Amino acid sequence: MSNTRRPLVAGNWKMHGSRAENSALLEAMTGQLDKLQAEVLVCPPFVYLAEIAGRLAGSRIAVGAQSLCAESTGAFTGEVSAAMLKDIGCQYVLVGHSERRSLFHEDNELVARKFVAAQSQGLIPVLCVGESLAQRQSEQTFDVIRAQLDAVLALAGIAAFARAIVAYEPVWAIGTGLTATPEQAQAVHAFIRKHLGTQDAQIADGLRILYGGSVKGSNAAELFAMADVDGGLVGGASLKAAEFLQICAAAG
Ligand code: PEP
Repeated sequence: MSNTRRPLVAGNWKMHGSRAENSALLEAMTGQLDKLQAEVLVCPPFVYLAEIAGRLAGSRIAVGAQSLCAESTGAFTGEVSAAMLKDIGCQYVLVGHSERRSLFHEDNELVARKFVAAQSQGLIPVLCVGESLAQRQSEQTFDVIRAQLDAVLALAGIAAFARAIVAYEPVWAIGTGLTATPEQAQAVHAFIRKHLGTQDAQIADGLRILYGGSVKGSNAAELFAMADVDGGLVGGASLKAAEFLQICAAAG
């Protein structure tokens, strides 16, 4: 973690929760973050976003969506546009989460279009990148991540990364209980920063790169201690207030 980049911890609630559960979770976090420096973000399912954005308006906790449509308006049944997310008070949106890529067939080009769509409405995209276990075992990690970044660079340009977050989420670590070691995470984070730095060193230096993949209260501090790890994208553990708060505290 650096002195210059403000840490960020984002909770991806995935398809979990109910109005009652969400309310209890947020209630348990109220007033608990005041002394922390880290920025904190929650990403609830679409249907709860407006209610939660209203409840958290002006609070210590920012609100993001888990996905969005690449198109701006029209006949796209079931989809939600960037303008709609902005309209109801979202500030962030995840793009290219590995579950979107693998289960919903979102390729690098579509992810890049979603990234651009988000920024077109002033939302901050959290661009998720990461390799599968097979790709890591065949030493393709850097190639995969380079291609994921390059698709966005080609469409959005390096300047767009001044208004974005990147999350490194090894697919083999998401929801599996397996966590990258701090050294494994640092190696990929440094690679991401170096790769973007070839285009603009200042933007790369200011970019916040989160680690995601089975972050827990017990391992967050050692991950966040690494020089290029600027916080976490947290799935399962973000549904338990005490544990999520512990992770936020580890970010500082
Ligand atoms: C995620 O959903 O992005 C994630 C990292 O999940 P988990 O923390 O449960 O591995």
